[in-house]
Formats: sequence, structure tokens, C-alpha cells
Amino acid sequence: MAPAKPFETSQGNDASAGDFLADAYHRLRQAVPSRDNKRPVLPPSAALTSAVSALPRTDDPNFLAARGAEATLSHLLEDIVPALNSQGLSGRYYGFVTGGALPIAEAADNIVSALDQNVQVHIPGHSASPAVEDAALTMLIALLDLGKVTDWPRRTFTTGATASNIMALACGREAVIARRLPDDSGDTVAEVGLLAASRAAGIKQIQILTSSGHSSLSKAASIVGLGHRAVKELPASTEEPWRLNIDALEEMLAREGVASIIAISAGEVNTGRFATNVLDMPKLRSLADRYGAWIHVDGAFGIFARALPKADEFLHLHGNVAGLELADSITADGHKLLNVPYDTGIFFCRNASIPNQVFMNPNAAYLTASAAVGGATIQSPLNVGIENSRRFRALPVYAVLLSEGREGMAAMFIRMVTLARGIAQFIRDSEQYEWLPSEEASLESTFIIVLFKAKDPALNDELVARINETQKMFVSGTVWNGQKAARIAVSSWRVDVDRDLEFVKELLSSVAAGASRS
Ligand SMILES: *Cc1c(COP(=O)(O)O)cnc(C)c1O
Repeated sequence: MAPAKPFETSQGNDASAGDFLADAYHRLRQAVPSRDNKRPVLPPSAALTSAVSALPRTDDPNFLAARGAEATLSHLLEDIVPALNSQGLSGRYYGFVTGGALPIAEAADNIVSALDQNVQVHIPGHSASPAVEDAALTMLIALLDLGKVTDWPRRTFTTGATASNIMALACGREAVIARRLPDDSGDTVAEVGLLAASRAAGIKQIQILTSSGHSSLSKAASIVGLGHRAVKELPASTEEPWRLNIDALEEMLAREGVASIIAISAGEVNTGRFATNVLDMPKLRSLADRYGAWIHVDGAFGIFARALPKADEFLHLHGNVAGLELADSITADGHKLLNVPYDTGIFFCRNASIPNQVFMNPNAAYLTASAAVGGATIQSPLNVGIENSRRFRALPVYAVLLSEGREGMAAMFIRMVTLARGIAQFIRDSEQYEWLPSEEASLESTFIIVLFKAKDPALNDELVARINETQKMFVSGTVWNGQKAARIAVSSWRVDVDRDLEFVKELLSSVAAGASRS
């Protein structure tokens, strides 16, 4: 028996820690051997029940008594692991947009945990981690074809697109108010707060103008003190609610005493469609400049369409993401299409001074090391983002980009798009299912999401449950135009187009056939 508390400083030592970890990784690999789509997509209900009943109970006299690392590891592997879903292990988990973790990313993530770096203050000579982080961001700028690195002087990793959207609205709010302050006024939001700064600038409201804005945009609006109702939906039409109505937008921009943030949905979550088309961004840029507005692109998953080759079959999508580099700020997710582990998001900002104003960690002399070396090209992350202490979440991104390169990343995205289009075509042509939002759409408008419903209302009512109870494939439910709908989001690196397309066709056909028998 191992000692009950091997890692107490009085008992543990490097050798026993190393042995323990080697054994733990080995047993973990054995506990999740099946990485070939055979695992059920959701945990069996018996596994869920036994995991929950194995959790510590406050009425247990041994509650919070030390169990020791060995017993704890066995509990994790035997009770908890079987009760986790296969979103990362199966290429047939099509819920939400979750991605998976490329093996090189998972390996890098284990290095991150093993070395436990805090990427906070950039002190050359202390750790290479801020330089690696910046290299990863630089590679992303190139992958997404966003222009020169110097065009995006403030860039950082975040915990996800929600955090990036919060940063974007914080920057947008700071900038649109600052533009209306008298020249010598130091009454910025960062200094005097939103209420006093707005008063000084003569602003009575800040509005966020969008089309099919992601729910996290409203959350971000609340967090930065603008409020849910500041988010104004300006759909081009009821048929294409994801497209931004630029005429309506211009009218809103002209409102007296109101400052604006324009939020572009580059990838709407239900349909995967885009707010803009090829000529829209230059128009939006000149409107924003005229009215002193900030343009933010929420490209959590959609921005990666820019990494597709400029081949005929992708020209439609390239039109949708053309000009996004004209934005003031951009959100992207790492844990979705990039296929790195949770939680990883990215934030790019074109403006150098505004993020510094917002995120500067003031009056902490012990954290100002990078200022001391002057001219350092890499800013301390703590002055660019929300956190002070931060995980080295850049390393898996760096590893993926280095391992796959531009071509490998494009190949992975092509597999995702090709599978999604194959599924969309099958649904469009089938007797039992209807492709949403419109069967008239061109397949080339499909990126990685397929929205659909069953034509038989009784089947449609239970469609998502019927698909998911097969345990072979998982889809999300949603509501489209007041009716239930199902959603397939293809985002895992594990996609094998031929194999998975056959599989999805067969499964959807048998779900429909089962319905007509009952
Ligand atoms: C997923 C998503 C978000 C939220 O991202 P998290 O990484 O879950 O915080 C925001 N916007 C869009 C468009 C998304 O798809």
C-alpha cells in the first residue's frame, strides 16, 4: 500500500512524484483506450449514477479525510472517467461546437500542467513562455491572413470567446467614449468609470449593433455595464437574420448622443452563416470611422474560414469573411476549430493604447519588470488581458500550428466543411428531412454547421432525443423560426469524410424509418 499522503512535503520527494505520474499517465491511457468512434458518445446512465454516488458526502464522518493519491487516482479513473462524455474522443459528437484535441495539442497540454508556468509578467531571462505565446499569436495572424503582425499590436490568449468578447466590449466602450471627450480631458472610463466618463463625453447610451449576436455578447454587455438591452439586432431580413442590415445600421449610428459598437457575427451558431458579404466590410469601416464607432468581429469558429484555400468551392465562404481584418478587434476560439484542449480563446486588437488603458495593472511595482527592460517587444500579458496569473494555454496552439502548418490546418478544415456539405446535401435531397434555413440555399454557403428538421411533426418533436439515444452520434437541439430543429456541428480533427458521411446517412435514415414503424 502506498502511504496515505505521499505528497506532503514531509513525505513526498521528486522520485516518488515522478513514478506516480508515469503510472498515472499509463493508467489513463488504458482507461480511455478506445479512440476509434466505438465509445458511446454520452456516458451510460449507470456510470453517471455511480460517479455521482461516489462523490464525497458532507454527512460522511470521513468527509475531507485524506484518501491519498493512489486511492484518489483509482477513484478518478474508475468512477469519474467512465461518466464523462466522448466529445473529445469521438468524431461523432456533433453537439454545440466543441472541437477535440489533436494528439500534439494534448501532449503539449500535459507539458503545460507538468511545468505549471504562470504566463503573467514578461521578464526576459525568466521563462520563454511569453515569447512562445507571442509566436503562437503571430502564427495565428498569418494563418488567418489578418495582415502584418504590427497591425495587431495588442493580442493575447483568453479562456474562450466569451472572455474575448468581454475584452472587446470593454475596449469598444473605452474607445467610443474617449473619442467624444474634450481633448485634454483625462476622464476616461478606466480612470473615472463608465458613468462619469459618459457624462463628460455627453453620451447617454452605448449601443451594440449586431445580427444574430451570440448569447455571450449579451452576457459581455452586462458584465461591462452596458446591459443586455444595449444589444440591438439589425437583421437583413426574416429569412436571413444572420446578415447585418447596413442601412438600418447607419440610421442607428446617427442617433444623437448615442455611441456605438458594431459586432459582426462571423459564424452564427445555429446556421453557421455569416453577417457580412464581400463588399460589406469596407462600407462598415467607413461608417464606423464617420460615426466614431468600434467594429468587433466575433469569429469564434467562423474566422477559420479564412484559412481555407482560395479554391472555387470555398469562394462563397471567402466572400463572407473578406475584409474582417478591417475590424478594431477580433475574437477567435482555440478550443473549437483549432482542436486544442479547453479552455483557449484568442483576442486581437488593432488599437495599441486602448487595451493598455483598460487592462493596465496599475501601482504594482513588483510586476513592472518588462517596463524596466524598456523597448521589450512583448508586453506583459497582465496588462493586455483580464487575468493576472495565467495558464500557459498558448503552448498547445503553438504545437498544433507548428505540427500541422498552414497546409495541415487547411486540410483539417476542408475535411470538416466537406463532411458538413455532404450531410447538408443528403438532408436536402431526403424525403424525411428538411434542410434549414432554406432548401434553396447553395451548398457552398455551408461551413461546418448543418441545421435541419424532420418533415413528420411527430418525429421532429423527438428528433434530437431519437438521434442521441442511439449513443452513436450526438447532436444539439435548437429552435428555428419557432420550430424545433437539430444541429450538426462538425468540428473535430477526427473527421473521416467518407466513413462519417456514410455513418450519418445510415443513422438518420434508420431514425426516420424507426419513426414510421412506431
Ligand atoms: C462558442 C461561441 C462563443 C462563446 O465561446 P466560448 O469559447 O464558449 O466562451 C461566442 N461566440 C460565438 C460565435 C461562438 O460560436
